[in-house]
Amino acid sequence: MTDLPRILNFRMPAEATPAGFRQQPARVLLEVDRLTRRFEGAAEAAVSRVGFSVGEGEFVALLGPSGCGKTTTLRMIAGFEPPDAGSVRLRGADITALPPERRGIGFVFQDNALFPNLTVAGNVGFGVRRLGRAAADRRVAEMLDLVGLSGLGGRMPHELSGGQQQRVALARTLAPAPPLVLLDEPFSNLDAALRAETRQDVRKLLKAAGSAAILVTHDQEEALGTADRVGVMHEGRLEQIGAPDELYHNPVSAFVASFIGRSNILAGTANGMDAETPFGRLPLSRAANGAVRLAVRPEQILLDPDPTAEAVVIGREFRGHDQLFWVQEGGRCLLVISGPGPQVSVGARVRLRICDCVVPLS
Ligand code: ADP
Ligand code: MG
Repeated sequence: MTDLPRILNFRMPAEATPAGFRQQPARVLLEVDRLTRRFEGAAEAAVSRVGFSVGEGEFVALLGPSGCGKTTTLRMIAGFEPPDAGSVRLRGADITALPPERRGIGFVFQDNALFPNLTVAGNVGFGVRRLGRAAADRRVAEMLDLVGLSGLGGRMPHELSGGQQQRVALARTLAPAPPLVLLDEPFSNLDAALRAETRQDVRKLLKAAGSAAILVTHDQEEALGTADRVGVMHEGRLEQIGAPDELYHNPVSAFVASFIGRSNILAGTANGMDAETPFGRLPLSRAANGAVRLAVRPEQILLDPDPTAEAVVIGREFRGHDQLFWVQEGGRCLLVISGPGPQVSVGARVRLRICDCVVPLS
């Protein structure tokens, strides 16, 4: 894999948005409304009332643990799985009953299964043959250029690296210019380093082609690092959908708070914009009232050595750029992340403070 040509130089984070600048919301491309699917003999629905929309050109990730219903949701959008209830609309038209080939949606699945007996150019041109020879050839050249594989059109799939094959699969999908591309764990066959690189390439390619995408993954880093918005699924339901920062800073549920990064969950009593907590009165990120569970990020807790304090460090992991502490305090074990210093050893007594607003959970 070391010979992978880096013709596309896509290592920079995609499209940094200047602070305070809000982009116009894109026109809606896809609307998924209360999609539901229960497999025969199953006690629970695999997908239950899932609803969200995708804007033109938008990159949305569906994130959740194995078995939460991501693939089933994608298959219903693609038309491979009939929903028991709910609808799918593309550019305003109801496509719920249309077969896959009439939806005009592109797919890239886990094993990207190129046609082994066709050249790279043959694979990429497969969906555009109806354009006629000359136009199809032009389109193939354009797509190979877009994915950084110009000049490799005559190769056979087995003569390419895994990352290159993935890009050919993407070029083949993008050649007919679908407004929407569905990607189901497309990077899971690649090793870690190549995966991180390829996913940024893919994001850039889709943005360059103007295609919207839904990426299904169980890898939070992949979702947060590539998508404009991330939908978090849990047990067949879409728990929350939002920009990566919004999910991290304002999770609505304990599941989202723990699945996106790590969280300590505390009990408290909310009163509007603040709450009584084991750490005193703290401001809330949004209003709540009554008994609540509160999410506190490990980096929101400050830890100071203090021999007279009650809390004790019971575990420590030094990670270079930061360190993790497990701290026993009042019958609870809290996770704290601090900078690389000062050195605090296991067994040390520490004072804990929270110096930020905390998040009330539903
Ligand atoms: P994910 O992609 O998030 O891992 P899936 O959508 O593949 O989850 O599966 C969701 C649930 O539906 C799982 O419990 C799975 O076992 C079940 N399931 C998926 N496909 C079928 C099927 N064809 N028949 C019966 N059960 C299925
Ligand atoms: Mg799946």
